[in-house]
Amino acid sequence: MKEHIVSYAVKNDCYKAAQRLVPVGIVVHSTGANNPYLRRYVDSPAELGENIYNNHWNNPSPGGRKVCVHAFIGYDAGQNIRVAQILPYNMACWGCGQGGKGSYNSSHIQFEICEDNLNNRSYFEKVFSEAIEYCAYLCYIFRIDISDIVSHAEAYKKGYASNHGDCDHWLKRYGWTMDTFRKKVSEVYRKNYEEKTDYASLVCEKCGFTSQTREYLDRYTYSEDLWRKLWLAMG
Ligand SMILES: [Zn+2]
Repeated sequence: MKEHIVSYAVKNDCYKAAQRLVPVGIVVHSTGANNPYLRRYVDSPAELGENIYNNHWNNPSPGGRKVCVHAFIGYDAGQNIRVAQILPYNMACWGCGQGGKGSYNSSHIQFEICEDNLNNRSYFEKVFSEAIEYCAYLCYIFRIDISDIVSHAEAYKKGYASNHGDCDHWLKRYGWTMDTFRKKVSEVYRKNYEEKTDYASLVCEKCGFTSQTREYLDRYTYSEDLWRKLWLAMG
């Protein structure tokens, strides 16, 4: 995963409203317009190129609508797939509207995947692979359960969003569902975060073990498994 671009949409009414967010889930959107370039939505000319129409979301109400999300995923100026964050994660977004039971705007991190014409498999695979890595990252940072990742369409069915079909309509074209998406997030999560956890250091720090104690336990044939079990047993 390349470094995220951070370019807050400070002129957007949502940014100015600055409603507090403690994220407990993620909503995945796709834009519904054929334009894979981030500069269409994100105001960061140095990395993304100039938006000559000035119709990006660093405007009070983009397209006359009260909308903002935390991030977009799409092409930078050099056609590299990037994540571009436009709202801080502790700020609620205006992404999914209102459902019968309420809105995930006050509880979920939300991002848009830039659509192309939906017929390019290579773009689909690249942009969703970035979205999967991004979700794994967010789940790790904010201790979000992978089962709490939903699409806008799923959020609607649960009663917490407006009636939209994204991004399931795009996934369906390539034989995927949101379950496929979540399964891939959990695979990436395991690879990128769980396997890298340094249980030995965590245990030693919590228990105040000396380096001699650590060396002694490290000599045990199954030490890696032992450190992990000790850490989990500590709760
Ligand atoms: Zn949506």
